[in-house]
Amino acid sequence: QAVLYIVPTPIGNLADISQRALDILSEVDVIACEDTRHTGKLLSHYQIGTPTWALHDHNEQYKADQLVTRVLEGKSIALVSDAGTPLISDPGYHLVNRCREAGIRVVAVPGPCAAITALSAAGLPTDRFVFEGFLPAKDKARRDKLESLKDEPRTMVFYESPRRLLDTVTALAEVMGEDRRLVVARELTKAFETIHGLPAGDMLEWLQQDSNRCRGEMVLMVAGYKADADALPLPAQKTLALLSADLG
Ligand code: SAM
Repeated sequence: QAVLYIVPTPIGNLADISQRALDILSEVDVIACEDTRHTGKLLSHYQIGTPTWALHDHNEQYKADQLVTRVLEGKSIALVSDAGTPLISDPGYHLVNRCREAGIRVVAVPGPCAAITALSAAGLPTDRFVFEGFLPAKDKARRDKLESLKDEPRTMVFYESPRRLLDTVTALAEVMGEDRRLVVARELTKAFETIHGLPAGDMLEWLQQDSNRCRGEMVLMVAGYKADADALPLPAQKTLALLSADLG
């Protein structure tokens, strides 16, 4: 029976790939990847000669059908993305969905993921968390999104672009308050890895002090909302606010 393998690849440090992942990449008939040149570098580092096929956001639906046909013909396929775990803010959803609909076995190999790597070292609660991927690029939509997450009690994990980090932290300090704890994990597994945690207001100052602190690939984490121990429960606070608006 042919199989679709989901194979995570390193997020910076080339040594972060499992023996099982390397064996699968060597043994499959085709590797579907976002960028054949990018994946080609990883494959040549490990002397793997398996042919590659481009599957990216723009052609995924169309290519997914072709790949499903190949698998049904008996070819085994591995899906990789440029870095980390495929489908996590990366292409692959349509392919996996179509494969499962067609009764094809999908096997996921565990491996690197920036969100999980960052979270495990952040020092924020990890018993419950939400992964929010990338925030909207436009200022208004980003603020609305943060507004909707203001009362989220679980730790929040975002992927963020270096160009928008300052604007996002500014908005976070305004929407969730200067005391809300943030952690920025940059360049994980690479030479200039830093993981820095501060309240939103102080984080803004710290980032503004040195533009290098906003560079590179980054995961932004936000502590969940914690009700003040003396305050009324949140639903009661909302009712009270409605009542006083009505009375006022
Ligand atoms: N599928 C990938 C994964 O499993 O982590 C994520 C792909 S997403 C297109 C790329 C984003 O992941 C980057 O913009 C950054 O937010 C985050 N990221 C990837 N590598 C990272 C690293 N080494 N350090 C910090 N963040 C990273």
